Amino acid sequence: MEHKLIIDAHCHLDIMKGLDAAIKNSKDNGVVKILTNGLEPQSNRKALEYAERFSNVEACLGIYPPDQLKEECDEMGREWKDFDIDKEIAWIKKQTFLAIGEIGMDFVGEFDQDAQEKLFRKMIQLGKEMGKPIIIHSRKAEKRVIEILEEEKAQKVVLHCFHGKKKLVEKIKGKNWFVTIPTNVVRSDQIQELVKIIDINHMFCETDSPFLSPFKGKSNEPSFVIEAYKKIAEIKGMTIEEVENNIYLNYQTLFE
Ligand SMILES: [Zn+2]
Repeated sequence: MEHKLIIDAHCHLDIMKGLDAAIKNSKDNGVVKILTNGLEPQSNRKALEYAERFSNVEACLGIYPPDQLKEECDEMGREWKDFDIDKEIAWIKKQTFLAIGEIGMDFVGEFDQDAQEKLFRKMIQLGKEMGKPIIIHSRKAEKRVIEILEEEKAQKVVLHCFHGKKKLVEKIKGKNWFVTIPTNVVRSDQIQELVKIIDINHMFCETDSPFLSPFKGKSNEPSFVIEAYKKIAEIKGMTIEEVENNIYLNYQTLFE
C-alpha cells in the first residue's frame, strides 16, 4: 500500500549526515511532515533554515537544559557556544514556526535541578504566551516534569520519548496530552507497554533522528518513522492506514 500521511513528530536534522538524501527519501515514502527541533541558538536557526528549504519540514524552536547539552555536544557532533537564555527567548518570540521544542529536564549525571526547573517553567510560559504546543524531553525526570506541567497548567503538551513507569503513564492518560512513540519501539518492551495504554488519539510517532533507530547499527532518518506506525498497528490491531489517519487527525487538532 502507498503511504501518504506519515509524520515524524520529533527529530534533529541539524546533526544528520546525508540530509538531502534523507529528505528525498522521506518524500518518496509519504512523510508529509517532519518536525525538527532546536536546542540552543545554532540549532534553532538551522531549524528555521530547513523549514524554509524543505517543503515537508516544520521548525520547532526551544532551549534544552544548557548544562546537559554542553556535556553531550561533542558526542552529538554539535559545537558548543555559551548563550544568554533571555535573549534567545526574546529572539524566539519574533520568529514564525510550529511549536516550542525541544525543552524539558534531564536528570542524568550531574545537574542543577533548580536551574533546569526555572528554565522549563519559562519555556512552558513562552508556549502559553505564543499559543503553541510544547515538545518535552523528560529523561529520568518524568515525575517532576509532570508535576511542573500540572502546576503551570500547561495544555498543548507533547511528551517525547516518554520512559516513565506504568504509574506515571496512567497519570498522563487522564490528561489531554500527547506522547510520541519512537522508532525503537520495535525492540523496547517498555514503549510497547506505553502503546497499549495510551489511546491512539493521544499519540504521534517520531524518529528522534539520528538517534533511536529501529535498525541496529544504522543511523535513523525520518522515513524510518513508518516502523513505529507498523508496530502501533500490530499492537492495537489496526491497519497502518487507520494509524496514519488517526495520527494525522491528531496533528491537525494540536498543531493547526
Ligand atoms: Zn530530541
